[in-house]
Amino acid sequence: MKIGIYYYKDKNEEIASIIRKEALNNGFEIDNDNPDIVFSIGGDGTFLRAVHSLMDKLDNVLFIGVNNGTLGFYYDYNKEDISLLMKNLKNKKYNIKEHTLLKADIKYQKENETIYALNEVRIENPFHTLIADVLINEEQLETFRGNGLVVSSPLGSSAYNKSLGGALIDHDISAMELTEIAAIENNVYRSLGSSFVISKEKTISFKGSFNGAVVGYDHLNIKHDDELVEISISCSDKKVKIVHGNDYSYVHKIRKSFVL
Ligand code: NAD
Repeated sequence: MKIGIYYYKDKNEEIASIIRKEALNNGFEIDNDNPDIVFSIGGDGTFLRAVHSLMDKLDNVLFIGVNNGTLGFYYDYNKEDISLLMKNLKNKKYNIKEHTLLKADIKYQKENETIYALNEVRIENPFHTLIADVLINEEQLETFRGNGLVVSSPLGSSAYNKSLGGALIDHDISAMELTEIAAIENNVYRSLGSSFVISKEKTISFKGSFNGAVVGYDHLNIKHDDELVEISISCSDKKVKIVHGNDYSYVHKIRKSFVL
């Protein structure tokens, strides 16, 4: 088994060297290019980057988040846990949870593009009103006017979606959540005004006059000269496999991150 370590080189060197030492002691190889298991050290942004860097190999890779002291939603382990964790990996005593990635098919006037996201896909225009028809399985829900729209996965429901007032989705539920950013609500214009949790079988589409809006997903965004025409978001076949402790609980994670 090959271990990869993903972290910012100027920080976290101490944790990385503990992982390297314990990996070698337990008979693993270090291979950052073709790893079977990736240790991500840092914050949630680092974890997102680690997953995106291996987007084409997700079927064969397990991800483990090691906390460097900052609050991180994707992080189950501390540096004190590494020694036991490595032994458990060697003895195949661990708990894996698979999380479905979102897929967005994006149509520009001249080209198409498909992207995958762990947390969310969003379309935002902070400078001009974004006007978009919102359709669920091609059935019109509303014409949205405002700053933007976010479609979040259960994993991402505790990220940007939560800051926008969206609900948390238990990770055992397969669904997407549609949440508005600063909708215009008055006697003339109206949209749903609340988040909408939608089945994983459905597709959410935005069509309209995007007027320079930017498509963002996780820590990334797409810059395109071509005019955006339509974006359709669904649950993909891609899954990220995250190693959790045997006593992992989503409720505990929520309590630790947001309540205590
Ligand atoms: P970052 O790493 O600084 O992340 C921004 C914040 O989101 C951090 O506090 C991070 O801990 C938190 N976060 C990320 N994923 C999370 C998750 N699944 N559950 C709970 N908290 C989570 O910045 P970045 O590298 O640009 O990361 C991109 C992510 O930042 C996006 O996917 C988006 O969800 C989030 N974001 C949040 C806001 C907001 O809350 N107002 C705005 C923009 C982006």
